[in-house]
Amino acid sequence: MPFSALGLSAPIISAVTAQNYLAPTPVQREAIPAVLRGADVWAQAQTGSGKTAAFALPILQTLMDSPPHSRREIGVLVVVPTRELATQIAESFNIYSEFYPYGLKIVTAIGGVSINPQMMDLRGGADIVIATPGRLLDLVDHNALRLNTVSVVVFDEADKLFDLGFAEELGRMIPLLPKDRQTLLFSATFPPEVSALAESVLRDPVRIEIAASAATTPIIIERAIEVDTPRRTQLLIHLIAENGWDQVLVFVATKYSTGHVAEKLRRAGLTAGSLHGELSQSARVQAMTDFKAKTTQVLVTTDLAARGIDFTQLPAVVNYDLPRSVVSYTHRIGRTGRAGETGTAISFVSLDTFAHFQLIEKRCERVIPREVVPGFEPNALPSIGPKPTGGIKGKRKSKKDKLREAAARAAGRSGADTNTDQLSQ
Ligand code: AMP
Repeated sequence: MPFSALGLSAPIISAVTAQNYLAPTPVQREAIPAVLRGADVWAQAQTGSGKTAAFALPILQTLMDSPPHSRREIGVLVVVPTRELATQIAESFNIYSEFYPYGLKIVTAIGGVSINPQMMDLRGGADIVIATPGRLLDLVDHNALRLNTVSVVVFDEADKLFDLGFAEELGRMIPLLPKDRQTLLFSATFPPEVSALAESVLRDPVRIEIAASAATTPIIIERAIEVDTPRRTQLLIHLIAENGWDQVLVFVATKYSTGHVAEKLRRAGLTAGSLHGELSQSARVQAMTDFKAKTTQVLVTTDLAARGIDFTQLPAVVNYDLPRSVVSYTHRIGRTGRAGETGTAISFVSLDTFAHFQLIEKRCERVIPREVVPGFEPNALPSIGPKPTGGIKGKRKSKKDKLREAAARAAGRSGADTNTDQLSQ
């Protein structure tokens, strides 16, 4: 089925054609006609399924169908959990409106940067506002925007909005929205809070559940390499050369390590950037833009870049430091192998982190064979390290305790600063 069969007109079809989208993805096939009909939508869709276009394309079509003079003060509001996702969605709206017949005002309202330019941008209204919840409410408090004219609201990655603690902000925001609006809710999972939100904000929604298909199921080859902690950077450099990766995303545990490891890579002649939540917003955007544009080959980051961000054609992810939780492991490795491409996710495992990695495997319900790279054989073989099943009878440690201990050991090894990244605001 071509895009033209979904009710989209020439300027929008030209934009998707320019992006080499040959046909709509399953979530797009179902969501686009429903949004064009004006229905509320409740969709289960992962990042990577094409969900942004699933709401952006019909929204752009609807705006195009209403002449500029009839526009509302704020036409469309997209609420997202992180600044990076907001920026990415704004980029997508810009790309998809490339052949639009008239100018569109798209404003990104996110925390971490000065509020004043956003207040100026919002003067006279905007066609589309893409916002994180905290900054959106700040702008409302400053009388820089009113939500009572919004005609379409999108809650994107609704599960993460709750994960990141935005329940209170949502509770304040929703009563400010007009009742006669169209609401679209996208979420990868539906924990009880998301279902409750859906019940309270959606009217007779079209339900869309997309079974993971071959095109969207990531193909990720997971590897675990045993290496002594001090030799990880050399091993990383070796792997980049050996595998010919044109790009690699490297996860470390602390903001200090992002700069430290990137610097060592630069000294070895690689182009490397670093990213963490305490950089200024402009530095974060720059690091991300350079990496996406392939100006930098390696991006060394904390968990900040693990969620929601779409890196196309990223061949490899390396867990230089192991993630603390299985959820984080899944988010990290999910940055590669997107849109049906094959990706490699490598975890470095040392004596200190051996037990922690076993717990990750156990929780993921899979066993990732340990490898040793010639020339980087560990002195202390992790395979003789402590097993997580030990313990004194009656004093057996819980899994949580073991994970905490392993994380504390890993953090202690990497320096004093802890990973206090905020994913948003
Ligand atoms: P998303 O799920 O919105 O994060 O999109 C994931 C990736 O799929 C992005 O890089 C999009 O550019 C790409 N994409 C979206 N729709 C299509 C399509 N119909 N065909 C090919 N690629 C697409």
